Amino acid sequence: MKQILTLLIVFFVLFSCKNENNTSENTYKEPLETENTVPSFGIVIHGGAGTILKENMTDSLENVYRAKLEEAIKVGHTILKNGGTAMEAVTKTINIMEDSPLFNAGKGAVFTHEETNELDASVMDGATRNAGAIAGVKHIKNPINLAHAVMEHSPHVLLSGEGAERFAKEQGIETVDASYFYTESRFKTLQRVKEREGSNTTKKVSVGKDPYIKDSKFGTVGCVALDKNGDLAAGTSTGGMTNKRWNRIGDSPIIGAGTYANNATCAVSSTGWGEFFIRGMVAHDISAMMEYKGVSLQEAAKEVIQKKLPNLGGDGGIIAIDKKGNVSMEFNTPGMYRAHMDSEDNLKIAMYKE
Ligand code: ASP
Repeated sequence: MKQILTLLIVFFVLFSCKNENNTSENTYKEPLETENTVPSFGIVIHGGAGTILKENMTDSLENVYRAKLEEAIKVGHTILKNGGTAMEAVTKTINIMEDSPLFNAGKGAVFTHEETNELDASVMDGATRNAGAIAGVKHIKNPINLAHAVMEHSPHVLLSGEGAERFAKEQGIETVDASYFYTESRFKTLQRVKEREGSNTTKKVSVGKDPYIKDSKFGTVGCVALDKNGDLAAGTSTGGMTNKRWNRIGDSPIIGAGTYANNATCAVSSTGWGEFFIRGMVAHDISAMMEYKGVSLQEAAKEVIQKKLPNLGGDGGIIAIDKKGNVSMEFNTPGMYRAHMDSEDNLKIAMYKE
C-alpha cells in the first residue's frame, strides 16, 4: 500500500511539472518589440578618408561638410526609425551624398586621365548576401541606384561600362549628360596632378605605385545600417581616384573589398587607396575575422586597418556596424569624414583624428 502511494505521488509531481512547462511555452513572448523596448538600429556613413586636417580647413567649409553629413545620415535614420529596411536607408542616404559636389561620388566625381568621369558603386544585403555592383559608368546620376537594380533585377552581381548603361536604360534609372559631372575644383585637381606628372604620360608604372595617383584626394561615400528587423546592409559609391587610366576599377564595386554585409557578422564600407583594399579583401577580411576567430567588430577592424592594410602599403579607412549595433569608424589616414546615429537619436559627426 505504501509503495502504491509513493508511486502515485511521483506520477502526480511529474505530471504537474510537465504541465507547468507547457504553460510557460504557450505564454512565453519574445521581449523584443514590446511597447517599452526600443529595438536596436543604427546607421554609419563616411565621405572619404585622406589628408583631412584642421589646419587645411576653414570654419565655414567644415560647417558645410558637417551639415551635409548630418542631412544625409538623418535621411537614413528616419527610414530606419519608421521601420524601413537597412538597404533602403543605405541607398537613400548615399543618394544625398552623390548629389552633393562635396564628395567624390555622383555629382562630385573626380576626373580620369582622359578628363572624363567613370563611376563605380556596390551594395550588399546582409540577410541574403545578395549583392549588386557597377563599374566605369559615365552617365548614371546615382550609381548606387544602378548597383541596387543589378542586385534586384539581374542575374548578375557586377556590370560594367556600356552594358551597365544599357541595363540602366531598361530599368528606367536616371541618366545625365556627361557634363553633369563637371566641377571646377575636381577639374583643377586633375590639372595639378597632371602638371606634377609632367609630359611623360606613357611611362610604364603600375597604378598602385603611381605617386601622382596616391597623392590625389580620396572622397568616396559609403553607408552601413542595421534595421529594426536585425538586418544589415552596406553600400559604397565613388568616382575612383583622380587621374586614373585605362578604365581602372577600384575596390568600391568589388564585393568583399569595398563593400560587404553578412547578418551573422557585420556590414562594412571601405574608402582609401583601392588597389590595396582589393589585395587585402578588406571588407570581407573584417567579417571573416569575426566569423572564424570570434573577435569583436572593433578588434577586427583595428587589426585590418591599422596592421594588415599598412603592412601592404595601403591607406584609408572603413565604417562598419554589427548585428548588435556596435560600430567601428577606423582609419589610418589623417582624417575621414564620418557620422554615426543610433536608435536613441545620438548623433556623432567627425572628420579628424580624435
Ligand atoms: N577606394 C576608392 C578607389 O580606390 C577611392 C576612395 O575611397 O576615395 O576607387
